[in-house]
Amino acid sequence: MDSVGVAAAAPDAGPGPAWQSKCPWGAPSTTSISCSLADVMSEQLAKELQLEEENAAFPEVVAAAEGPFITGENIDTSSDLMLAQMLQMEFDREYDAQLRREEKKINGDSKVSISFENYRKVHPYDSDSSEDEVDWQDTRHDPYRADKPTTTPRRGFIGKGKDITTKHDEVVCGRKNTARMENFAPEFQVGDGIGMDLKLSNQVFNALKQHAYSEERRSAKLHEKKEHSTAEKAVDPKTRLLLYKMVNSGMLETITGCISTGKESVVFHAYGGKSATEDKVIPPECAIKVFKTTLNEFKNRDKYMKDDYKFKDRFSKLNPRKIIRMWAEKEMHNLTRMQNAGIPCPQVVVLKKHVLVMSFIGQDQVPAPKLKDVILSNEDMKKAYYQVLNMMQQLYRECNLVHADLSEYNMLWHDGKVWLIDVSQSVEPTHPHGLEFLFRDCRNVSQFFQKGGVAEALNERELFNAVSGLNITADNEVDFQAEIEALEKMNEDHVQNHGKKLSMFSSDGDPPIYDE
Ligand code: ADP
Ligand code: MN
Repeated sequence: MDSVGVAAAAPDAGPGPAWQSKCPWGAPSTTSISCSLADVMSEQLAKELQLEEENAAFPEVVAAAEGPFITGENIDTSSDLMLAQMLQMEFDREYDAQLRREEKKINGDSKVSISFENYRKVHPYDSDSSEDEVDWQDTRHDPYRADKPTTTPRRGFIGKGKDITTKHDEVVCGRKNTARMENFAPEFQVGDGIGMDLKLSNQVFNALKQHAYSEERRSAKLHEKKEHSTAEKAVDPKTRLLLYKMVNSGMLETITGCISTGKESVVFHAYGGKSATEDKVIPPECAIKVFKTTLNEFKNRDKYMKDDYKFKDRFSKLNPRKIIRMWAEKEMHNLTRMQNAGIPCPQVVVLKKHVLVMSFIGQDQVPAPKLKDVILSNEDMKKAYYQVLNMMQQLYRECNLVHADLSEYNMLWHDGKVWLIDVSQSVEPTHPHGLEFLFRDCRNVSQFFQKGGVAEALNERELFNAVSGLNITADNEVDFQAEIEALEKMNEDHVQNHGKKLSMFSSDGDPPIYDE
């Protein structure tokens, strides 16, 4: 670390005499300045001091988490909330320790003991459901955004008699154009003309619109780059606090570092600690998947969730932060289903908001390689293929799921077998696009193993039929795809009708179920 510390900031007595000897008027020797005002005001110095104090205050915590992640150095001390909460937690722990001592003293060897459990401040991690964060505003409705400019009706004019104004009216049109200007991207500077009675001609407006759009695209590209380069490694203070709590509660021993940063998630490795409840065992090594709270990437995923009737109602009412939590929730539920069916996959440990803790596939901090990165013998390749075929069928039949992002990137090779991961986007086969997703999965799997030299590997169409149990006979890709879409459509109609019929008899609002 750079040592601009106290030593460098406070010049020693050295320069004093030299400066005095050069000065013709001399100077009283008592006024030697030990530290300049600029140094005293230095933010850097302040931070250093703060850090020192902190290190002294939480030696235990810092020692427990010496990875690149939660350390005394990078705890974001600029967040007052975070600092306050950290202090509070430390205080609570001390308080509890005192309580336990008193409890022990009072109970002694007595057979009947009293418990101060209810007075404890730090409660087991799972029961901590405090909503300590302010949810994001629902950004889909911005109260500050101008309403849409009023439109001229189809017939092309409003008003009566001599008060008639047509859509070609220059004044009205100009004002409307000015109002529309406000709908350009917020970063786009349009000046303060909006507040005035400015009338923009159509020509000027169109030129401006074109420019605004290209600016928006350019800035999106720039933004994306920036995000991929730096922001990925960091997690925001709220997430850090969540992780910090997991370490603090003892559920995790240490968070050692980052395994992967993807577009939608960051995955960390951690050593498991002790569970607060006896019946639960924390795996010795854990993977922590943090779903990114930057929304850009998740917008692309709308189609997985929006069209899913099970989530439809919830989806429309939620703010972006909650939607991200739903992805984490989905991953948890899907992993649990897979676990129950005996498919090799990570085991869920705990879900906390957008942070999912699961068992680590790999050993000694080294994650198992992805199927795309591992070189397998012919024999293992063949074994892997049959296993994947089997798992796809289990997933479909027993878990009622389609992976929807299955490829050599989301399969790990560990302990001589294939493990499936990354199932937050998985859907049920009756999802409006479920069969298309399945077909895509089949294509990836089939191509991978065919290229990998497995002669027995079915082609994508055969694989699709083998997994789904459907019997689509088309012998070419295009027709096959068309049949899949026709099936989906039929299914959708069926669900709709079925749903309507059902709702006349039942009022419990359960999603309609399609039976073949
Ligand atoms: P993404 O949506 O970012 O692809 P993944 O769930 O695929 O998220 O995780 C990204 C990477 O992190 C994986 O390719 C894998 O290398 C690693 N990873 C994820 N979960 C685990 C786990 N439980 N054990 C070991 N490594 C994991
Ligand atoms: Mn992945």
